[in-house]
Formats: sequence, C-alpha cells, structure tokens
Amino acid sequence: MIIDSHVHVGTFPSVESAGPLLSTVPDVVAFRTRHRELYERFAHEEPLDNGETLIEDLDKYGIAKAIVQSRPGISNDFVARIAARHPNRLIPLAVPTPWLTPTDDPRQAQNMMSPKEVAVELERCIAELGMVGVGEIFLRRLSRKLHPEDIADDLAPMMDVIARHEASVQIPTAWTQLPGGLYYGDPIWVDEVANRYPSARIVLTKMGRGIDHYFEKCLSVAMRNENVYLEISGSSSSHLRRALQVIGPTRLLFGTDWSPVWRFVRDPAPVVVKSIQNVEEATDDPDVRRQLFSSTALSLYDVSISKWTRHIQERPARD
Ligand SMILES: [Zn+2]
Repeated sequence: MIIDSHVHVGTFPSVESAGPLLSTVPDVVAFRTRHRELYERFAHEEPLDNGETLIEDLDKYGIAKAIVQSRPGISNDFVARIAARHPNRLIPLAVPTPWLTPTDDPRQAQNMMSPKEVAVELERCIAELGMVGVGEIFLRRLSRKLHPEDIADDLAPMMDVIARHEASVQIPTAWTQLPGGLYYGDPIWVDEVANRYPSARIVLTKMGRGIDHYFEKCLSVAMRNENVYLEISGSSSSHLRRALQVIGPTRLLFGTDWSPVWRFVRDPAPVVVKSIQNVEEATDDPDVRRQLFSSTALSLYDVSISKWTRHIQERPARD
C-alpha cells in the first residue's frame, strides 16, 4: 500500500489551460516569470474542484490514500469539501497561513496574520472542518523575523494548538515556484521549534529538494530532534539513501507534491513516478520500502485518518 502524504488540491481555469507549458521541472519553476500574465490570472478566477482528476492519478499509479491540502488561492473550506466527496481516499490537512496570490503581497501589513489569528483559524479547521493536522505553512504570512527564537515565538500559538491535538505540521524546505520567502526554505530555524514542542511532530517536506545545502540542514535538524520527519518529494535517491543511513526509515515518508501544476510534468517522468523510483533506487529491502511507502505515514496520520472518518460519519447527524 502507498500513502501520498503531500498533495495540493483545488485548481483554476487558467492553471488547467497551462498544461502544454509545464512538461518539465524547469518549466514549472519558470512559469511565474516566463508567463507572468497567465500565472497571475488565477487570482481573479473562481476555484474548481479537481478531486476526480486526483483520484484518476491515484488509481493510475497505485496510491491508496492521499493526505491533501490547499494551494495558493484555495481555502481550507474548499479542500475539506473536495476531501469529503472521497472520504476513504482523501484526508484533509489545514493550512492556517494561506499561501500568497498575486493580489495579497504579505509586505502589506493588512495581508499579514497575527500569531493568534493563525491559531484561531487552525482551531476552526480542526473543530468545524474535521481537518487532521497542518499542511505546509507559509511562514511569511505571520512572521518576518530572522532569528530562530523570534520565529519560534511567532509560531507559538499555532504550535500550542498542534501539541494539544497531538497533531503534526508540515514545513516546506528549499525553494517554491512563488515569489519571495526563500530565506525560510533553509530549515535551520526549525530546530528551535522542534525543541520547544517535543510532542508536536514536524515534517520537513521535500527534504531540501535535491539541493545539498538544504538537505544537510534537514538532516541536521532531524538528527537532533526525534519529533522531526523528512518527506521525500522532489528529493533524490542518493539523498534518500543517506537519510536512511543517518536517521533510519521510521521518520522518512513518501510524498509527491502532486498539485494542479506539478501533475503536468512528464519529462523525464511524472512526479508520482519519480518519487516511487527514488524509493526503489534507494533500497531493495521490502521492509524499508513498506516503512517509507505507508508505515511512517500511518504512524503520523493513522489516528488522524480515523478522526476524519469519524467526522464524516457523524456529519449528517450534525447538519
Ligand atoms: Zn507542497
């Protein structure tokens, strides 16, 4: 069984039309600057439900379940609705710090959220929407601090909620396709957060995205903190082999970063195929493969998955 721990749902007409322009990883990275008008159009469009497209890809690649979260311009409510239509396949995570769109630059004070507001939104996502943890946070929405202790102070209200619910949070590493924020892609500051909240599980997504500089920081933070996990999308089989040697398989988990944009990549391989190949190239051991493909995700999200099933079953009685 394979569980994909890292998937973004919700799309827009302009994104759906961009497929022919996005067949390689460099195409996706350059999309914002190469086709700026098309890239920015989604900020003025209505979102579309792409749950069926995702399910087709899950079936095609043999993925049993996906842990899903939002992307820029998509609300937590929209993600919960998509997941609720496929409750046995899709399990929703909250992103209480929305990713930026071309119309809400966080350099403008009115587009920032206070640490308290972030905590309130997370509580709402858990209580009302049945969301089971936190997806990739967009740190710049609530902090512009540079010192790890200051960043951890700003994250404190959100981390308190996560610790209280015995949940987990995904923190993105390395680069994104979006403007700005590269500074926070170096996860060295996460060491401070992990140390303060030993009962909260922290997943460093993409584990440095195949770039040695970021990967070494991911590894350093994970070595020092038993509550830090590494997710493998966008990484390489050589980094995965090294991570297996240093922290072992129980804190490594499979993910693809499937999204309405990344799903178009074909050359040299679709993102889902690439992630599966990385695992298969990194280890021949069937037990280790099983741990990476599903057991780690089950230990991180199993309680959560049953919480989500319960939320869906109880929902008609509440409505
Ligand atoms: Zn992602």
